[in-house]
Amino acid sequence: MSQKSAIVGCIIGTAIGDAIGLPVEGLSKRRQSLMHPKISGHHLFMGRGMVSDDTEHTCMVAQSLIVSGGNLQVFSQQLTMRFRWWLLGLPAGVGFATLRAILKLWLGFPAHSSGVFSAGNGPAMRSAIIGVCCGGDFQKMRELVRICTRITHTDVKAEYGALAVAIAAHLASQDTDILPQQYYRILTELLPAESVDFLKLIDRAAASAAQQQTAADFAAEMGFSRGISGYIYCTVPVVIQTWLRYQNNYRDGILEIIRCGGDTDTAAAILGGIIGARVSKNGIPANWVSNLLEWPRTIQWMEALGDRLAQVCETGKNQRALTVSIGLVLLRNSCFLVIILSHGFRRLLPPY
Ligand SMILES: [Mg+2]
Repeated sequence: MSQKSAIVGCIIGTAIGDAIGLPVEGLSKRRQSLMHPKISGHHLFMGRGMVSDDTEHTCMVAQSLIVSGGNLQVFSQQLTMRFRWWLLGLPAGVGFATLRAILKLWLGFPAHSSGVFSAGNGPAMRSAIIGVCCGGDFQKMRELVRICTRITHTDVKAEYGALAVAIAAHLASQDTDILPQQYYRILTELLPAESVDFLKLIDRAAASAAQQQTAADFAAEMGFSRGISGYIYCTVPVVIQTWLRYQNNYRDGILEIIRCGGDTDTAAAILGGIIGARVSKNGIPANWVSNLLEWPRTIQWMEALGDRLAQVCETGKNQRALTVSIGLVLLRNSCFLVIILSHGFRRLLPPY
């Protein structure tokens, strides 16, 4: 498979996972099964879906890679600038650490000191695309993941989690399946010795995948029976466990991880980015792709973004970013907010 198909698959895979997981985000596993006993596709608004911060961050990283051509300093400047403008678009979903870090950027803190001490999911939701683009050059991938992480999150745990996702996405974009213990061994070689606690979690995820345990059973065994939390040491092991079992099956992987409950949009977005890098756009159910109700960042826009990023990766020459008008984004975000609020009110009603 070409790198272009992997890049486009990663971006669209992130978007579709995000959109299908979003309507049940924050619901416990039990309440989700009561309120939504059947989930087989989009269910945000009349059978259509919309994306949240997970996809927007992935697109901002892609844009920053396009303009920087991999130059670390330019990448950092680009991503910082994009985070600042993104917040002005009033996104309905923004992680607390990310919000505080971007406010610090607006107050004049430079990118190297804007991050706050947190191990939330932010860095993991946007690192798969770095792995697909730069996984062949591990040093470069690590530097890019580090910059991408530390602008918002300074806890080193966030960096380990984001790196594990980038490495998984890189491996997925290659043509051969990987055995669970193989992935664990690769991580032990690439991650620093201090990441031992994280590696133990990945070891458990690999063992669980080898035994074909379900994602929900694995999450329960880790102490998250109510749902996947927003903690990167919970989300990433569950994502990895699911990916190792569904390396070529986008649909079943996404539906299974959403059934874990909790931070479902982020977990499905990260998993979708990784599996998408393997199966490409063609491996994602066609009705899931066509029922994404997104504008101005349409599926065609995301494909064009992936195409341009693939050209930059191939030639090593940077290009101009794809533009989106902030006015259109504000309009879109206002409609999105109304839909999200209506879901919030619906949750006040039974069944409990
Ligand atoms: Mg989200």
